Amino acid sequence: MSAHPAEQAPAPTAGALPPALTELLAAIRDALDVPLADRPADDKQRAELLTRRAADTRVIVELLLAHGNAEHHTARLREWTAEHPVTYPTWQTRADEAAAEEEQLIGVPEPIGPGCGAPATVRFEGYSPRNGLAHGSLDLAVYACAEHAPRARAEWLGDLMPYRTLTAGDALCGHLFDFTTLGGGR
Ligand SMILES: [Zn+2]
Repeated sequence: MSAHPAEQAPAPTAGALPPALTELLAAIRDALDVPLADRPADDKQRAELLTRRAADTRVIVELLLAHGNAEHHTARLREWTAEHPVTYPTWQTRADEAAAEEEQLIGVPEPIGPGCGAPATVRFEGYSPRNGLAHGSLDLAVYACAEHAPRARAEWLGDLMPYRTLTAGDALCGHLFDFTTLGGGR
């Protein structure tokens, strides 16, 4: 006597969402993903886009509540989102580009600045105020070994607000990365 296939199907993971609902939520997430602008001049454009996307999302939710048909309305929301793309330079894009530049730079052997050149175990980010935030603008990253970490924090960052992070790549003690010039002038 063989069991019905349905009885052999694995039990769904507790709390797992139905696929159609997962698709719908992903479309809503993407519609509301309107990143901050890199330049203050684009803040208005960003705000208008966010308002547009939020209004579209609200309409779709209204239609879903009235008529159901998640698959159809998920596709509609994706269409509307694509019709109003992000066209301004975003803060996240610039941060990613800067990180990529930094990684490339620290892979190149160059004269070490104030450090000893030992493998770095700590990285400090230095921030200057921007838009009223003390950690408004990431200006500089410095790398240090354990021995020179206190000096890196106290001296190499100058007046910038320090923030300790993990090291990335094969950085050496004394490496600096200037985000304001994307590496230049170090
Ligand atoms: Zn050192």
